[in-house]
Amino acid sequence: MKVFIAGLSTETNSFSPLPTGLKSFEEGKIHRGTATADPIEFWTSPLHIWKKNSLANNWDVVESLSAHAQPAGLTIRSVYETFRDEILEDLRNAGSVDIILLSLHGAMIADGYDDCEGDLINRCRELCPNAVIGGLLDPHCHLTELMMQAADLLMPYKEYPHVDIPERAEDLFRLAKETALGNITPVMRDFDCRMILALPTPSGPMREFVDSMIAREGKDGILSLSIAHGFPWGDHERTGTRALASVMEMQTRHRKLLLNWERSCMKCGTNCWPKT
Ligand SMILES: [Zn+2]
Repeated sequence: MKVFIAGLSTETNSFSPLPTGLKSFEEGKIHRGTATADPIEFWTSPLHIWKKNSLANNWDVVESLSAHAQPAGLTIRSVYETFRDEILEDLRNAGSVDIILLSLHGAMIADGYDDCEGDLINRCRELCPNAVIGGLLDPHCHLTELMMQAADLLMPYKEYPHVDIPERAEDLFRLAKETALGNITPVMRDFDCRMILALPTPSGPMREFVDSMIAREGKDGILSLSIAHGFPWGDHERTGTRALASVMEMQTRHRKLLLNWERSCMKCGTNCWPKT
């Protein structure tokens, strides 16, 4: 197996007048195939985990760009296109790739690109139609149709504050591995919870809800359950909270299960609403 890993992220507040330029990414740190040669950091930990796991399986690893910037306004078009094209060029040069793992945010907007992650994943798909593509996301993302169509697996962090990035990177690797080996065929479905709300997870209704999601994974054909909290400071047509389920295959029992889960998502959302 050959695994291709890369990371590109920022959280775009499209109402901010401060553009996100090259300097913003330089401050966050840019690695060109060398992120895993440096100590683990917040943004590079998924690449470290994916490389370590790939090598443990005696698989080949191709490490590409890792570029991340703190939240600000629209990313400058040429900056996004340059980073994207670097990743795609590395992917082209990598030859036949079995698994592509991308550490992303999900709310990155550039001038001319409302959905940078969807654009990047889709271009990877065009280059590698048969590869397993997995995207690690921040839950403050806009979960788009293009991302859902182009990726095999999307994995938002479950915790806010985001203390579970290593665990979710491990989950994504494990599911991508099982998919590449032909042991599972993931199907993703999302559901619009029709709310915009801060959803901290250390306590309260969301703590209980996240624990219940984790408890259901690995049973009844459920591969992964997540909540994309959404990012209201991004002026985007998909702004809002969405529930995301990955199941083994879409059977009648899964449709019923997802319907029940949708109801419990809505109930949790109601419970999370501040009491006045
Ligand atoms: Zn976040």
